[in-house]
Amino acid sequence: MRIAFIGLGVMGYPMAGHLATAGHDVTVYNRTRAKSAQWSREHAGVVADTPAAAARDADAVCTMVGDDADVRAVVFGEGALEGGGVLSSLRADALLIDHTTTSATLARDLAEAHPHFVDAPVSGGQAGAQNGALTIMCGGDETSYARAVAVMNAYAKATTRIGPVGHGQLAKMCNQICIAGIVEGLAEALHFADRAGIDPEAVIAAISQGAAGSWQMTNRAATMIEGRYDFGFAVDWMRKDLGHTLSEARRTGARLPLTALVDQLYAQVQAEGGGRLDTSSLRMLLT
Ligand code: NAP
Repeated sequence: MRIAFIGLGVMGYPMAGHLATAGHDVTVYNRTRAKSAQWSREHAGVVADTPAAAARDADAVCTMVGDDADVRAVVFGEGALEGGGVLSSLRADALLIDHTTTSATLARDLAEAHPHFVDAPVSGGQAGAQNGALTIMCGGDETSYARAVAVMNAYAKATTRIGPVGHGQLAKMCNQICIAGIVEGLAEALHFADRAGIDPEAVIAAISQGAAGSWQMTNRAATMIEGRYDFGFAVDWMRKDLGHTLSEARRTGARLPLTALVDQLYAQVQAEGGGRLDTSSLRMLLT
């Protein structure tokens, strides 16, 4: 397949690499040219100067940028971007897949502009992108989803169609709600163990085998005990995601007391200069 990949950040760079390794004919675009030049030295593929040039003649276009405004910039050509967005050159029958974590409203706007659209936010972090083992939650019609799976297979370990357009983003919000509560619970348990004077490593070894076990406990408890947070999924990204989640909850009337609280705790981490730290940095607030 001829695939255009827009956005070679922490996640997009390895994802585009997996597409090239899988034998697709890949054209990449990145705002900062040095990254696309580096990518083309590592992988067989072409570098385009604009999103519009990358999308021309593509069978499928994947975007993986930051937030709603960034997707609007590369797809609609809004803002300061030069050379036009993806939609100015996209073939009418081509597939558009957005992997960025955004609002569900944006997903619906994109589908209105281009009917062959799938919102496909990912979970699994940098390691999941590098290992080609992402979990992907999708929204779109069944035909577009089936076409998207043929692309996403290069970097996914699991793909699920949740429902129509927007439902991928809404599922990702459920994912972030779960993570917010679990990380705060883990931070509080480690703080409690500390104050009680019991060995936190022994506690985690014991309770991770039982009902309290979680991905966060397996992958983050040890680094939280060491006080290391300079890696992983950034607090700034989490606040963006929780912002979309809380707006959606206001719209639907869903009540998210714990999520709202943890959002404010992350605001405190940001205020203390920790916006780029991993989300497990909630532990830092409990001293
Ligand atoms: P990142 O490393 O900051 O990369 C963002 C990419 O978007 C860069 O290529 C950047 O270009 C490009 N970009 C941003 N704004 C742009 C604009 N206005 N116009 C054109 N290009 C623009 O971010 P990431 O960690 O890969 O995350 C990407 C998305 O995946 C986010 O929505 C994030 O929430 C989500 N996500 C991330 C993780 C994770 O662990 N990192 C996990 C799951 C989901 P430049 O190179 O020029 O800056």
